[in-house]
Amino acid sequence: MTSPLENYDLIISDIDGVVLREDVPIRDNLEALRELKRKGKRIIFITNNSGFSRLLLSRQLRYLGLDVNPDDIVTSGVAAVQYLKERTDVRRVFVVGEEGLMEELRMNGFQVVTQWEAEKETPDAVVLGLDRLATYDKLSTAMMCIHKGALFVVTNMDRLWPSNDGLRLGAGSLASAIMYALRREPDFVAGKPNGWILEVAKRVARIPEIKRAVVIGDQLETDIRMGNENGYDTVLVLTGISKREDIERLGIRPTYAVNTLKELL
Ligand SMILES: [Mg+2]
Repeated sequence: MTSPLENYDLIISDIDGVVLREDVPIRDNLEALRELKRKGKRIIFITNNSGFSRLLLSRQLRYLGLDVNPDDIVTSGVAAVQYLKERTDVRRVFVVGEEGLMEELRMNGFQVVTQWEAEKETPDAVVLGLDRLATYDKLSTAMMCIHKGALFVVTNMDRLWPSNDGLRLGAGSLASAIMYALRREPDFVAGKPNGWILEVAKRVARIPEIKRAVVIGDQLETDIRMGNENGYDTVLVLTGISKREDIERLGIRPTYAVNTLKELL
């Protein structure tokens, strides 16, 4: 019997809730992905986590036995930066986010301003991602900049983030404070379920033409929605945020729903 996952030329996998829970490996899923790589399958990773750089994530995955190049990883931070690069009106940015996001911006020629500088002169854009050191003050500065005309870019609207100790607030929950305050939506959301991040992945990972691809993830509203809306088969793996009963409740149906990826080998 051939395994369902062997039918695909390309595997597009999520990271948080699939291979890792914060920094703890999810062994069964990792073993399944390692096995697929051994069989010569191409695996790329698309993650809404913007906190780490691609280099750091590739090192982390290599340490777990998955040989992955930085170019085969696309974070929502990369997707946000690629969006900003296509605009000509953004140079100075204020960031609510972690080091990986700032590094990606700087590497691409953007000037990341301090909170003090942002208060003095409104930046061209505010880029908001998951920030585990976010404060009332930082969020208020971001809100004021947007109120004064800065572009409002959010890496992803995830409500929750699966830490090792259970659920924590996601980037979308931080963005919601500003959305509520100003009664407005962000100008751009870069990450899943927006198909933009898939477009960026195709460019960054230099995928010539995706034939039979499958999207693997732990969240219906982001991973599975993105896969479904872009015409790919999808695998919901129940090692992260979404539960089996959420499928009916949200009406987002994956091709497969499994407890671990080993069930599809
Ligand atoms: Mg996830």
